[in-house]
Amino acid sequence: MSAINIKSLARQDVLHFLRSFDTVLTDCDGVLWMNMTPLPNSSSVMNLFRKLGKRIFYVTNNSTKTRDDLVEKCKTLKFQANKDDILCTSNLSACYLQSLGFRKKAYVIGSEAIAKELEQAGISYCGIGPDTISQNTLYSVFEKDPEVAAVIVGFDEHFSYPKMVKAATYLSDASVHFIGTNTDERFPVSNDVIIPGTGSLVRCIESCSERKAIIMGKPEEYMAKMLKERSNINPQRTLMIGDRCNTDIIFGTRCGFLTLLVLTGVTALSDVEKWKQSGQQEERDLVPNYYIDALGDLLPYLKELETLSEVS
Ligand SMILES: [Mg+2]
Repeated sequence: MSAINIKSLARQDVLHFLRSFDTVLTDCDGVLWMNMTPLPNSSSVMNLFRKLGKRIFYVTNNSTKTRDDLVEKCKTLKFQANKDDILCTSNLSACYLQSLGFRKKAYVIGSEAIAKELEQAGISYCGIGPDTISQNTLYSVFEKDPEVAAVIVGFDEHFSYPKMVKAATYLSDASVHFIGTNTDERFPVSNDVIIPGTGSLVRCIESCSERKAIIMGKPEEYMAKMLKERSNINPQRTLMIGDRCNTDIIFGTRCGFLTLLVLTGVTALSDVEKWKQSGQQEERDLVPNYYIDALGDLLPYLKELETLSEVS
């Protein structure tokens, strides 16, 4: 791992890099957009990758959107996308249960998106929405739904103590499946407020249930398995783009993909410099092959590649 600044390369070397992959996986928040604001030229870059014949996948740990929601968002923000191009953790949670032949009910700490994906997979669920403290909830034993045989933890702004009680109680039965959508500790935001991410909620339930969740999102194995099932990608000719090294880049490294860090999101260049010097392999695995200030900065190089391919 070397962390080469793309902009420091000679033009020919950048073009060589751009020709060295056929599949592009990209994280979304912090790479393509911040909430509903697209990052400059990022859609042009993604659409040009596609025009040049590269297979595109949008790979996000976000569990608050369905695949359909993400296709809509892509369209609104001018990214070409269809449902098969999207891997998101609400959908993967449903796929995971489906792959087990799951016929019972899931207790969900999470958003409507998880509910919708479960519905589409024909899996029943409960638990969505507020579950606030009342005089009775805290100390009395709640009535367990005997149909519940899985607990899913995703992002839930209604996360509460009663939900913890229920999840931990269901999980005290070792046969109940325990799924966490992702482990991102915080959301990237640009001001001083810290917004706890799903990873904080998953850890909380892991702690009170004394169990480990199987994680759907990057950097864990399941996401890679699903990707390989959906498309026969060649890892050596696949590029993973991300803004967060402890999910996106390490995911790419573990899968044997080329990795590109963009500096428009969570990870700063100073972090990368620190990991490069680290004696620990775990930290050195966080170092990307390449980095660039912003995804949109690839546009002039890609345009040149387009012109050359039109000429030839
Ligand atoms: Mg991100």
